[in-house]
Amino acid sequence: MTRTIQNVTILGSTGSIGASTLDVLARHPDRYRVFALSGYRQLERLAQQCRRFRPALAAVPDEDSARRLGGLLDGCPVRILAGESALAEISAHDETDVVMAAIVGAAGLPAGIAAARAGKRILLANKESLVMAGKVFLDACRQGGASVLPIDSEHNAVFQCLPNGRNGAGVRRILLTASGGPFREMPLERMADVTAAQACEHPNWKMGRKISVDSATMMNKGLELIEAHYLFDMPDAGLDVVVHPQSIVHSMVEYTDGSTLAQLGNPDMRTPIAHALAYPERIESGVDMLRLAEIGRLDFEAPDLGRFACLRLAREALRAEGAAPAVLNAANEVAVESFLAGRIGFLDIARLNERVLGRLGGEAAGSCLDSVLDIDRRARAEARAFVEGACP
Ligand code: NAD
Ligand code: MG
Repeated sequence: MTRTIQNVTILGSTGSIGASTLDVLARHPDRYRVFALSGYRQLERLAQQCRRFRPALAAVPDEDSARRLGGLLDGCPVRILAGESALAEISAHDETDVVMAAIVGAAGLPAGIAAARAGKRILLANKESLVMAGKVFLDACRQGGASVLPIDSEHNAVFQCLPNGRNGAGVRRILLTASGGPFREMPLERMADVTAAQACEHPNWKMGRKISVDSATMMNKGLELIEAHYLFDMPDAGLDVVVHPQSIVHSMVEYTDGSTLAQLGNPDMRTPIAHALAYPERIESGVDMLRLAEIGRLDFEAPDLGRFACLRLAREALRAEGAAPAVLNAANEVAVESFLAGRIGFLDIARLNERVLGRLGGEAAGSCLDSVLDIDRRARAEARAFVEGACP
């Protein structure tokens, strides 16, 4: 059988997921070509990637970055696109087959929607876009004929445990596993003083700073509950979280006959990336096979909602529906940014999120990209006001 080579666009190629994606693609030049890359601030890194993978296109945020990138390319023939429309352009490009959506935060939404409308195969790492605009995003996928394959390790695991990746007859519950992050056993009073460096030191995964802080507050698991609700069309009552400190079982699906199916593997994002790239086939990812006898034991426990208020808030937002998930996501992005900048404390993240959710969470959900972005803007303004008040 002859197979045509797939052109892959990576939104956020300079990040942690972007780098893991390039690592998998480099193992399969017979199947994939790196067609377009995007970076934001790390232009040196983007230039290195361009020199090595020779994409046709590279997207950067503005003209100044375009000039700087051009100067770093050593004559490598890459067409550089700059500005807000550049990301949408490389996503929806006629020659793009697959889009890896790996920008962090709400900034990834417009390009994700562009890929959806253009009917691409979307590998979705950017959970925030689904949390803030789940229905708008999935409607755009349906209308454009796009398919979505989850990259988040938990959702990729659930996908693998469901028949054809879909929730159907006999499925009783989806169980997302959570490592519990670096502060799993820390008493609440000590959490007030943790630093950004401590919060970013995840015990099992090496990730970008925003998702690392989200893992430390367990907001990440909260966002993932909302993500699972949309991806698998599962109501709140059918979603649960179990803490599993070793991060070997990536998630589970429970069936009415008493079966629970799980997907296991070493904690390395190249597994879900390779799975989603090749689905329904399987390709080598570079990840070591599991050695269960060496691991010895796998532990599970219930999450502590008293210490991890962000997980409770996400559950509330999921139940409230409407604009609540989008409001929570926006508030949390401002809170995490402010924590990383040393402007608020670790426990202020949950306080800020709760306040903004209380103020704006009752509004109706945005029905199109513009109205979603409007809610996002207003929630950010409210969150910034909290930060100003918290540190005059
Ligand atoms: P990262 O911080 O390492 O990389 C983020 C990427 O987004 C970079 O390429 C950066 O240039 C780009 N970016 C940031 N702000 C931007 C903006 N305003 N406009 C355009 N581009 C911008 O993050 P990451 O850990 O790779 O995570 C990326 C996404 O994948 C997140 O949504 C995260 O939740 C999700 N995810 C990551 C992991 C992981 O293991 N890292 C696991 C599951 C899900
Ligand atoms: Mg995850």
